[in-house]
Amino acid sequence: MGNAMQRFENKTVVVTGGNKGIGLAIAQRFSDEGANVVLASVEEQVMEAAKSLPRAIGVVCDVTDKAAVVALYDKAQAAFGAVDISVQNAGIITIAKVEDLTESEWDATMAVNTKGAFLCCQEAIRRMRRNGGGRLINLASGQARDGFIYTPHYAASKFGVMGMTQSLAKEVALDNITVNAICPGIIKTDMWDYNDRVWGKMLGDYGPGELMTSWVEGVPMKRAGEGKDVAGLIAFLASADADYITGQTINVDGGLIMS
Ligand code: NDP
Repeated sequence: MGNAMQRFENKTVVVTGGNKGIGLAIAQRFSDEGANVVLASVEEQVMEAAKSLPRAIGVVCDVTDKAAVVALYDKAQAAFGAVDISVQNAGIITIAKVEDLTESEWDATMAVNTKGAFLCCQEAIRRMRRNGGGRLINLASGQARDGFIYTPHYAASKFGVMGMTQSLAKEVALDNITVNAICPGIIKTDMWDYNDRVWGKMLGDYGPGELMTSWVEGVPMKRAGEGKDVAGLIAFLASADADYITGQTINVDGGLIMS
C-alpha cells in the first residue's frame, strides 16, 4: 500500500483473534495504513504473528476472562499510549443438531462471541471516554441475519452482538465514540475449513471443499470472501469518512444476504 493511504498514522488498534484468519487480515490492513497494532488471541502463536508487522505487539488474552481483557488494554496503552480503535473479532463456532448441542457448547459460544466482545467494548469505552473518542467494530455474522442450519447457538451469539452494538452506540454517541458491527458472509479461513468438513458431513456426502463450493454458487458475486474484503470495510468504519455512522450492522458478503 506504500504511503498512498496512511489514515491511521499515530492511531492504535486492538484486534482480538488477531493471530490468523480475518483478524490477521484486519491487523495487516491497519498496519499498512500506519497504525500501531495490538494483536490478541488465546494461543502463544499471536506473538509470532505480531512479529510479522511493524509497530505491533502480541498479547495472549482469553476474551472471556475480564482480568485478562483489562490487562490487554493496559498493555496496549503501555506500549502505544492510547487505544483509538478496537475490533472485536475473536469468535468460535461449532455445528450440531439441536438434540446434540450441549449446554457447554452453548455457554462457550456465548462466552467468546458475545460476552467476550462486550468485555472488550466495555474496557475500550472506559479508556476512549477519557481520551476523547474512539471507534469500536464488532464482528457479527451473516448467520445472525439469516440463521443457518445446526448453529442456533452461534446465530444467537452473533445476533446478540448486533443488539449490543446498537445499545452501546446510543450510550456513547455523545462521547465521540462510534460502535458498529459487520456481518461477513462466506470467508476463506480456518473457520471455513471446519464448516466445510463438519457441515459437509452432516448435510450429505460432500468431499473436501464441495459443500463450500456449492454455497459459493449461491453468492451473487460467485466467489468466497477473503480476509482483506472484510478488513477494507472495517478500516472504512474506523476512518474519519465514517464519523457520522454509528449503531449500524453492515454485510460484507458479495450480496449473499441483502437485508
Ligand atoms: P478463525 O477460526 O480463523 O479465527 C478465530 C480467532 O479467534 C483466532 O484468532 C482465535 O485465537 C480467536 N479466539 C477464539 N477464542 C478466543 C478467546 N476466547 N479469546 C481470544 N481469542 C479467541 O476465525 P475467522 O477468522 O474465520 O473469524 C473471525 C471472526 O469473524 C469470528 O468472530 C467469526 O465468528 C466471524 N465470522 C467469520 C466468517 C467466516 O466465514 N470465516 C463468517 C462470519 C463471521 P486462537 O487461534 O489463539 O484460538
